[in-house]
Amino acid sequence: MKNQEVAGIFAQMADILAIQGENYHRIMAYRRAAENIATLGRPIEEVWQAGELETIPGIGKTLAAKIDELMRTGRLGAYEKLKAQVPAGVVEMLQIPDVGPKRAALFWKELGITTIEALEQAAREGRLRTLPGMGAKSEEKVLAGIEALRRRTGRTPLGVAWPLAQAMLDALRQVPGVVQAAPAGSLRRMRETVGDLDLLVAAKDPEPVMACFRALPQVAKVLLSGPTKTSIRTHEGLQVDLRVLEPARWGTALQYFTGSQAHNIHLRALALDRGLSLSEYALKREDGSEILCATEEEVYTALGLPLIPPELREDRGEIEAALKGRLPDLIELKDLKGDLHFHTTWSDGHHSLLEMAQAARACGLKYALVTDHSHSLGVARGLTVERLREQRAEIEEVNRKMGGTFRLLAGIEVEVRADGTLDLPDEALAELDLVVAAVHSGLRQGREQVTARMLAAIRNPHVDIIAHPTGRLLGEREGADLDMEAIFRAAAETGTALEINAHPKRLDLRDVHVRRAIELGVKLAINSDAHGVNGFGVLPFGVATARRGWATAEDVINTWSVKKVLVWATGRR
Ligand SMILES: [Zn+2]
Ligand SMILES: [Zn+2]
Repeated sequence: MKNQEVAGIFAQMADILAIQGENYHRIMAYRRAAENIATLGRPIEEVWQAGELETIPGIGKTLAAKIDELMRTGRLGAYEKLKAQVPAGVVEMLQIPDVGPKRAALFWKELGITTIEALEQAAREGRLRTLPGMGAKSEEKVLAGIEALRRRTGRTPLGVAWPLAQAMLDALRQVPGVVQAAPAGSLRRMRETVGDLDLLVAAKDPEPVMACFRALPQVAKVLLSGPTKTSIRTHEGLQVDLRVLEPARWGTALQYFTGSQAHNIHLRALALDRGLSLSEYALKREDGSEILCATEEEVYTALGLPLIPPELREDRGEIEAALKGRLPDLIELKDLKGDLHFHTTWSDGHHSLLEMAQAARACGLKYALVTDHSHSLGVARGLTVERLREQRAEIEEVNRKMGGTFRLLAGIEVEVRADGTLDLPDEALAELDLVVAAVHSGLRQGREQVTARMLAAIRNPHVDIIAHPTGRLLGEREGADLDMEAIFRAAAETGTALEINAHPKRLDLRDVHVRRAIELGVKLAINSDAHGVNGFGVLPFGVATARRGWATAEDVINTWSVKKVLVWATGRR
């Protein structure tokens, strides 16, 4: 059993317990376990076999016994029992933005609603507004939520699709005769969500590759099995298409299947202008002779273009820029020298300052800014002025221990309150190396109000970076209704950096916002928002988002040396 499956079962149990109005701590225990298993960084099966389940944060004897039962039998009695008590459709209602466990229970118990469809109908008929705590407005919100849910289903977040594709490709690379293996489609372009997964392999003999693919542990069902293409469905319900291609035409196929469609249509027009024809199968001259392209670079060269990085292939001006020799020199993961947003046990993180610093260093970073939450955010143990000073002493101790190989900087993720003021006094913020400000509550305020609040934070001279500016959670919650243009102009004017939060649930700023922000001269920071030692592993998703937004290393402040960052921050005050 895979980490995602075990995590999924625990998350479902937490949802069911929440609908039943169970004890908060019991619910949180399952949620925390689910999160830690999902982000473990090694197979849960391996941890189980090594008898080390209880070393996972949040897994005690009881939960370890449950994982053991799952691993041995593939079933969990406690889960089956819970599932029998609450209809599946009621649990599903929790996916609707603005519908929590209390509401779902209310709809079920008071009106006998057990599916999202029935809920939608009841809302349209005005039957929800009569329930206690509900009104016409909240009824409208339920309808809007159902629509938002419909819009996003069917696509898989990059953070789920990417590791899945890599695991499958790693297995396929082991097959003798495989010379190339790569993802294609929107996954290779690193879009924030992907539809079906496309994998490509170059090999002379496709059959052993297809056989290996059909037998992968991720496969729940083989949908189609042909000589050059096989489609399967994974246990999570994701469709994966594998194509096996001739090595001599690898470049042509990789280019074609990477897309996007709009980019390819534009390229085809360009080819026609040059007396060439470009198709899925081949690049041909007017006389019908073929230009074999073993690499993508050869395809672009034949069209008179430099290689265009996959992240740019959306027909958003990249072909015009390439023709003029003006493609941006995109930022790369190796350009990142530091991370300016992570949490520790001083607030809601799972590991100590020292452990987090060591983990950041192990990822190749030279410095990191610790940014625990300030106290007004409801999370456990937010920082007060006093505890912030205590933390400073520990930061210095960690820096001594790391002996100059790494620099831990003192910061905070300070709450922007409902009125736009910050949660800590200016004197306390002035003592920090850098200040990150964030809005976590009141995201549903009206456009004017929430924008004004964000602008106030940007204009505060102590604030250096705005974390996850829109507050969206992919597939869960839409971002705040901000006037982004006003935000970007203010940030450019004050020199406040905006974050690209690299967590795959956030990727906030998103690609198109990144591009506009850069055009207006805004500086960016690509941060992990790590809450545990494995959390720095999301940085590649942040870099990919920056690349999709045409960002160069110079646009991103944490590609700078620690000295330059500190000089920048001091200069802003
Ligand atoms: Zn935050
Ligand atoms: Zn954070």
